[in-house]
Amino acid sequence: IELLKEISKIRNLKRKINFIPTMGNLHNGHLNLIRRAKKQTNITLVSIFVNPLQFNNRIDYKTYPRTLEDDKKILINEGIDILFLPTDNFISKKSDLLDLGVIPKKLCGKDRPGHFEGVARVIFRFLSLIKPDYIFLGEKDFQQILVIKKVIKKFKCDTRIKVIQTIRDVNKIALSSRNNLLKENFKQAIIIPRVLFKVKKLIESGSCSLSEIDKIKSNIQEECNVYLKYLEVLKESNLDSLNNVYSRCRIFICVSISEIRLIDNLSLNGKYRLSKIGVIERKKEVD
Ligand code: AMP
Repeated sequence: IELLKEISKIRNLKRKINFIPTMGNLHNGHLNLIRRAKKQTNITLVSIFVNPLQFNNRIDYKTYPRTLEDDKKILINEGIDILFLPTDNFISKKSDLLDLGVIPKKLCGKDRPGHFEGVARVIFRFLSLIKPDYIFLGEKDFQQILVIKKVIKKFKCDTRIKVIQTIRDVNKIALSSRNNLLKENFKQAIIIPRVLFKVKKLIESGSCSLSEIDKIKSNIQEECNVYLKYLEVLKESNLDSLNNVYSRCRIFICVSISEIRLIDNLSLNGKYRLSKIGVIERKKEVD
């Protein structure tokens, strides 16, 4: 109710709202979203909510890092306007299943059934309540962005998405709250950017075949102490496999290191298609 009052005050003043949803345990990836949102003169509203519906594993939910007091200090320091901390009954458990097509079933959706439906339900609740003008989302969770796009379209929400680039550490490992759970195994995560940038270079040079990618996959399994869940090159718009039509594409990876799940992705410059002999071909630029 307090939040609704604040929102109506903001609306009366004809101010716009930039919304940044998070699960807390804030790092520079989150701060980058917040700083980008603050560059505009709009009100910045950050939420911290570890959404139980998007965890399909109780242990993962329980062990998800929660550092609310530190997060609050960080947000005060950043000068955000509103912090929204929903309680667990924020979303009803009743399952009015959202049909969002095939995107939630691909990549992470394969071994996390219900995960993206959980994301979609909490985001829909946020959007209906806050009605933000913009929602700021990190490119790191690219599949999540596609799912949220679907929610916005399906429910005709008046919110625009701002996609903000992935922030990486010195070893190019994408910052993530889950990195903190890795402790001494953290070094192993370096395989993720290594593989992503290697595959990007191979594909952009114009002559990478699917069998080469398969080789890279089996090398990861043999040489590293990590479990590769997927490494795929897919169309950016709908996560379909490449076919004979040139499309914008992206490389997606997910590994599990001591049961901690880490994801990342990288966009490819140019457009690509798959030739009949399984080579990923780059479209020639016309100048
Ligand atoms: P989370 O707290 O993990 O749910 O993330 C909240 C928002 O921060 C999402 O839009 C994420 O995509 C974004 N985010 C998380 N990590 C990064 C990162 N390393 N770089 C940029 N954005 C990120």
